[in-house]
Amino acid sequence: MAARFRHEVRQSAAMSRATPGRRLAFMRIGAHVDSADPLDEATLRQADTVQFFLADPQGWKPPEPRADADRLRAADVDVYIHAPYVINVATLNNRIRIPSRKLLIEHANAAATVGARGLVVHGGHVNKGDDLAKGFDNWRKTFAYAAESGGFATPVLIENTAGGDNACARRFDSLARLWDAVGEYGVGFCLDTCHAHAGGEDLLDIVDRVKAITGRIDLIHANDSKDGFDSGRDRHDNLGQGNIDPDLVVAVIRAAGAPVVVETPGGAAGQRADIAYLRERVSGERVGGKGRA
Ligand SMILES: [Zn+2]
Repeated sequence: MAARFRHEVRQSAAMSRATPGRRLAFMRIGAHVDSADPLDEATLRQADTVQFFLADPQGWKPPEPRADADRLRAADVDVYIHAPYVINVATLNNRIRIPSRKLLIEHANAAATVGARGLVVHGGHVNKGDDLAKGFDNWRKTFAYAAESGGFATPVLIENTAGGDNACARRFDSLARLWDAVGEYGVGFCLDTCHAHAGGEDLLDIVDRVKAITGRIDLIHANDSKDGFDSGRDRHDNLGQGNIDPDLVVAVIRAAGAPVVVETPGGAAGQRADIAYLRERVSGERVGGKGRA
């Protein structure tokens, strides 16, 4: 905790020295990385933030204690944890919903041991023919259940998703209904630019539209999309290489003023280039550079 405090003092000192026009230069930008050695991966990418999984993203096994927990907690790199994809607390299917709730709580506890600033989890969905209103209420019950034992150990950030007709957080009319259900619990929001584009929500003015619903954006997943607007497909691409105008991604980050994680392909080199690109563009140090041909 002491290291975190020092870090925040240092950052706020830097902020106060900065003129308003330079403030964004201190925005924290990083990447989703392999979980084996996230701090090493951060160094390779010159990342200020890392996001990783604490367990198999396609499995139901709970997270195991990490040998590097103390190092992660003390690091200057900000840590975010992504919950497994199998989690779906919205579903009416008890055999998925109950273990999902359990796994989410286990991940929030484990994420706290590495000093995570947020636990990102997808908005989930109900099955075809099921009532979406029940899905929103299942989300509410999840937070109510956690609140009985003092709340989640790590702030939960619900992420918008790209696909499906019965999703809780794909289209923003649904997102508004979700927030009506969970807003009272101080839930966080993670905006994924690929998911928004592929999910059929225009990136233009998206920050205002999100904040009108959630009141907050805690984290940006800055990804290009291999697929077209409203395609419903979730395939990330490196910035400027896919279907999204990279200027729009930069504008979203500037407007949101939130920390950034890229979840883009190309390994360390590909992500390092995306981070460098955003750092230059968001801070306004250089115009142009990686536009589409
Ligand atoms: Zn994402």
